[in-house]
Amino acid sequence: MIRYECDKCGCSLTANDPRRFIVKMEVYAAAAPLEFSQSELAKDHTSEIKELVEQLYTANPDEIEDQTYRRLRFDLCNTCQQALLRRPLG
Ligand SMILES: [Zn+2]
Repeated sequence: MIRYECDKCGCSLTANDPRRFIVKMEVYAAAAPLEFSQSELAKDHTSEIKELVEQLYTANPDEIEDQTYRRLRFDLCNTCQQALLRRPLG
């Protein structure tokens, strides 16, 4: 039998435990459609792109992901689920 524990309080739960709830969260950067002027489109961006690629080679992947998109999943007991619904941001 697969055992789970609440990611908030640590109490034991089973796979089909009626007290077990799953929380899925997505956190991502808000972005509006990009707008470019004619002068920006006419400019040569080759050096900027090369510099950005070089930065990405040495960057920490987790830090990059934190700046753009992160999906999280938690198991909660019913008590912690109710507390989450009352105050989702703590
Ligand atoms: Zn709990």
